[in-house]
Amino acid sequence: MGINSQAQLEAEIAARRDALIALTQDLIRIPTLNPPGQNYFEICDYLKTRLEASGFTVELIRAKGALADSDTHPRWNMVARYEGGMAGDTVHFNGHHDVVEVGHGWTKPPFGGVLEDGRIYGRGACDMKGGIAAAIIAAEAFIATHPTFKGAIEISATADEESGGFGGVAYLAEQGRFDPSRVQHVIIPEPLQKDRICLGHRGVWWAEVETKGRIAHGSMPFLGDSAISHMGAVLSEIETHLLPLLEGKHTAMPVVPPQARQSTLNINSIHGGEAEQSADYTGLPAPCVADRCRIVIDRRFLIEEDIQNVKAEVTAMLDKIKATRVGFDYEISDLFEVQPSMTDDRSPLVQSVGQAIERVLERKAEFVVSPGTYDQKHIDRIGKLKNCIAYGPGILELAHQPDEWIGVDDMQDSALVMALTLVELLPPF
Ligand SMILES: [Zn+2]
Repeated sequence: MGINSQAQLEAEIAARRDALIALTQDLIRIPTLNPPGQNYFEICDYLKTRLEASGFTVELIRAKGALADSDTHPRWNMVARYEGGMAGDTVHFNGHHDVVEVGHGWTKPPFGGVLEDGRIYGRGACDMKGGIAAAIIAAEAFIATHPTFKGAIEISATADEESGGFGGVAYLAEQGRFDPSRVQHVIIPEPLQKDRICLGHRGVWWAEVETKGRIAHGSMPFLGDSAISHMGAVLSEIETHLLPLLEGKHTAMPVVPPQARQSTLNINSIHGGEAEQSADYTGLPAPCVADRCRIVIDRRFLIEEDIQNVKAEVTAMLDKIKATRVGFDYEISDLFEVQPSMTDDRSPLVQSVGQAIERVLERKAEFVVSPGTYDQKHIDRIGKLKNCIAYGPGILELAHQPDEWIGVDDMQDSALVMALTLVELLPPF
């Protein structure tokens, strides 16, 4: 690619600065709160009008019957496609259009899209309406400078990433939309910072562990057997043996923050004994020995680990307690699991984005891996597509915070990186 091409694209994107700002503001001003999943149709319809005007063919797809889909809160998705005029690869930009709750502590209107000192404020500004806007401007600038090219560009805006992505990317993947015969490269413009490429994420296993007891009157605990005491033995074993074992398991995955470059385990919740009463109950609790106690564990595992071993470690620990502790019994059930995912950093997608970052920002791209999962998991597992990265403007730590913002310069820089990537992967002719 010549210097001219880069200068042309830079000029096209600079000329669209006002359009980029307006687009980001418009998207923020459609409050797509999830839960429950508000205004999904409105935002998809807005994007449809916008992208059709730029020559895209646009479909609105409802994830009918998917988790959380209902007539009151239908799960709408938008998929747009632009053909370059000759056979070639498809590059797909995927952004989730849902945002999390507002929360407290805002000094700016959360759905106002206020522009101040080069920053646009609002819920979803960085996570990830700014990223969607940058991808759209990148595609439009590329098409303006290179009207004919090999392959196609797709842009999607999808539902429910913040609640698992089942009515969004997972649904589209099940419909074959991310089949490797159809799409060859996916860029998810999540706010990972404009000089970083996120290659994937660690694995997840959630499980519920229940200890058993025998109910009795609380004044005569010797007549019962406390499930809470038994769970105490489990917690102690986790702290003294399991956690040190996990701390010793390190990964070659470049996970950020670096403290997450090992296996981790969190106890997400614990509950034992009588159920908690609602806030309007004014009475006292009843005295009983707890006959069951439950915890939910959240184990994050590494690409070097096998999920069967991850599970076996926990059951071995529980069996060890059972062998030595009188009256101890347990049940364990799987809740959720996702395999770790990491795109090859030698793939054409990663190489093209990396080179574009060097050209635009004059520094080497940093490769990172996310400690938690995002929609890449569905593209990998259901879609069977490996060439997927997260790359987009914004600062990850601002996501889900009050006064969330996105910098206009950052959006412009990453739009240029995306446009240069298109030149590499979809050769103009
Ligand atoms: Zn996000």
